[in-house]
Amino acid sequence: MTTDGITVRALVLDAIDRPMRLESLAMRPPRTGEVQVALRASGVCHSDLRTRSGDWGSELPIVLGHEGAGVVEALGEGVGGISVGDHVVLAWVASCGRCRRCASGKAWACPAGNDVPFHEPSAPLRRGDQGVAQFLGLGTFAERVVVPQTAVVPIPRDVPFDVAALIGCAVSTGTGAVFHNARLRPGDSAVVLGCGGVGLSAVMGARVAGAHTIIAVDVNPEKLDLAGELGATHRVLGSTPAETAAGVRHIAPDGVDHAFETVGHPSTMRTAIDLLGMAGSAVLVGMPAEGTTLTIDPLELAARGQRIIGSNYGGTSPAADFATLCKLYLAGRLPVDRLISHRIGLDEVEQAFDEMADGRRARSVVVFDGA
Ligand SMILES: [Zn+2]
Ligand SMILES: [Zn+2]
Repeated sequence: MTTDGITVRALVLDAIDRPMRLESLAMRPPRTGEVQVALRASGVCHSDLRTRSGDWGSELPIVLGHEGAGVVEALGEGVGGISVGDHVVLAWVASCGRCRRCASGKAWACPAGNDVPFHEPSAPLRRGDQGVAQFLGLGTFAERVVVPQTAVVPIPRDVPFDVAALIGCAVSTGTGAVFHNARLRPGDSAVVLGCGGVGLSAVMGARVAGAHTIIAVDVNPEKLDLAGELGATHRVLGSTPAETAAGVRHIAPDGVDHAFETVGHPSTMRTAIDLLGMAGSAVLVGMPAEGTTLTIDPLELAARGQRIIGSNYGGTSPAADFATLCKLYLAGRLPVDRLISHRIGLDEVEQAFDEMADGRRARSVVVFDGA
């Protein structure tokens, strides 16, 4: 381990709604409780695009990317349970593992885990005198990161890095919405609105959990075909709320037990609630722009005994759930590799954003040299 740090290539966002630029930044070595990881794969997620577009506030300059996997290169003082050479997935909630929420299976809500830990003057990444922030404490659109040890989860070596990266966000979020938020039971029915990486993960999760009927909805027929291969029993091509509602009601006239909204748009959220049967639950998984509002009819909600559930990171406890998802992948029950539509370089993330924004891509994964 060097004491004066190294240089890493990273995609830096300097201004909202401007393209990110690839440049070399100085990175200091890991300090007490921190780990240095060489990235091998980093998924491109809608939350990165939301931040780049200014839908969410952000400090600048920043390195985006929060869905990463790689190899541990160096350890700071006092780091235990992790070794140099370990293969790891990064968690964008650095849960402490000891607080009341962590101990009760709600690590995603750990108060310590949601602090973005790196601000001036301690930022690991620097451009001259200026600190460069890491999105959600990670910033995986970079060759290497220094992150808290609590954000690092070792995984089996036989899980490929591109698959592991997706377990860090899309797959945990989508399957967690099914397992933790909805608590879907065998024989239940479900509709999944939106078949990007998160929606397709919800489809796979619903199959693993034993859903009888899984209706996939998207505007893109190719993504619907993939949803069918991953476990959807029915497909609805819906480009308007009315088209979606008519298509789903044709399959489930009395409504569904669970509706998963993965788009993050108020009209789709409204549709999710409207499609519920008696005692159904709508899980709001997609993250909308700041300030979005939704109108509900509380009498209808009460009379029909329905629930609207907010879902953040799929209610994931990273240490436990990443291990489970790796096991399911290795057993062939969760074919995460099928979600990957494009393997790209760091210089192609902007193009991936464009194609993700208009629904043409399921999941792009940046693959780094050595992967
Ligand atoms: Zn994400
Ligand atoms: Zn905690």
